[in-house]
Amino acid sequence: MAAKDAARRKPCDIIIRNGYVVTVDKRRTIYATGAIAVTGDRIAAVGRERDVLTAWEGKRVFDAQGAVVHPGFIDAHVHVVHGTCRGVFDASLTAGRLTFADWKADVTDEDEFDATALASVEALRRGFTGFIEPGSIFEPDAAAKAAEAVGVRALLAGCYLWDNTDAMKYLGALDSKRLYRRAPGRSRHAIDQLGSQLYRNKDKDALVTGYVSVYGLATASDALEIAAKKLAAKHKVPFHQHEAYIPAATAADTKALGKSRMRHLAEIGVLDRNATFVHMTALDAADERVVKRTGISIVWCPHAYMQSAGFKHHSRIPRMYKDGVNVTLGTDGTMDAAIGDAGYAAYYVAAGLGEPITAGDVVEMQSIRAAKVAGLDGQVGSLEAGKRADIVIRAAGIAESYPAVNPLHQLALMGNSGSVDTVLVNGQVVWRGGRSTRVDEEQVFARAKASVERRMKRLGLKPAIGWPVVR
Ligand SMILES: [Zn+2]
Repeated sequence: MAAKDAARRKPCDIIIRNGYVVTVDKRRTIYATGAIAVTGDRIAAVGRERDVLTAWEGKRVFDAQGAVVHPGFIDAHVHVVHGTCRGVFDASLTAGRLTFADWKADVTDEDEFDATALASVEALRRGFTGFIEPGSIFEPDAAAKAAEAVGVRALLAGCYLWDNTDAMKYLGALDSKRLYRRAPGRSRHAIDQLGSQLYRNKDKDALVTGYVSVYGLATASDALEIAAKKLAAKHKVPFHQHEAYIPAATAADTKALGKSRMRHLAEIGVLDRNATFVHMTALDAADERVVKRTGISIVWCPHAYMQSAGFKHHSRIPRMYKDGVNVTLGTDGTMDAAIGDAGYAAYYVAAGLGEPITAGDVVEMQSIRAAKVAGLDGQVGSLEAGKRADIVIRAAGIAESYPAVNPLHQLALMGNSGSVDTVLVNGQVVWRGGRSTRVDEEQVFARAKASVERRMKRLGLKPAIGWPVVR
């Protein structure tokens, strides 16, 4: 570059060059040899490499070596603390007289910190720069501290927002008296928790923010639903809840209510474009019309769908997505899947339902569509000038990146752990050379293991291995 060109170039903090830049902008532009300029916490420019390098001079330059560069993905529904019962329970999620929900109730603040730190590292390893926790953490400060330490975005809500837990009896291993002792199904508890995390939003640059979530699944009175919805609207934050999860439980609820829960929620004014419903497996044709008419978003959790219903209960979600409903993806519990597995699962489950989706759909569902349900689509979810610099550079030179004639396809379906080289969140380099720049990963892993071993001892549980282990 001639000296006079260099003099004309504007300074920036970081330039990412030589990337296959998947922007997920409105036109879904991909720059085959692209570059990004980052200033502070923002993206200053995105485009062809030659254009960006002519206009910008970076203090640091990252050469992506031809690998995919994409907006940080967001897991739109993940109970991060559930990851620490991986392999403790079998598929029934029960162990003797204990249920998985008893396990949930036994958690300490320290366990929640350790589990969230583990999940946050796992997220970055898969190119996820943020997650939405559904309101199942007893000490949100512990989770917030862990997410901030690792450097990922987290959306937190008040814990177990419910005021009538009678309907939980239909939900098998999710039913637990120990859990109701800790999170009582009373209106006082719900009112105390409602909006408890919104104070975090005063800091516009905060990595951990608050939103409003009720548990759903027939555990909220109309008064609680309406109060939560109003609070979300007042604070301009998203409103989320679980619904239509296990078909038998939804059928029991419909019978008791005399109509479907979705139609009821529409009648009381809870459904609109700011509302997001999670699972949405057990819906009928009239419910589908309600979804389309009200413009709610859906978080699809394909693993949970297969475990709680399966193909014998046809999911309408891939069809609704094709009809224009905003659908995004969640891992839900991470007992039997890692953060980042939902895209792969959705691709195959949609095919199994006879409604195949594309690799591009998977990437959209995890980026801009997930940002929308986080209420952050104006800030993250795509690589565009002015947005926050949440950027992932995949690893070049690994087998899963080849033959590299359609890197979008490989990003969606083969972008597993170990395929992420560098991650920026808010313009900060939180991951470099496939490692955390913020925390000692070995210490995170050791703490998570020790936490689970303590919990197994407290509850008298052994891992459900099933095969003889010689020590
Ligand atoms: Zn959930």
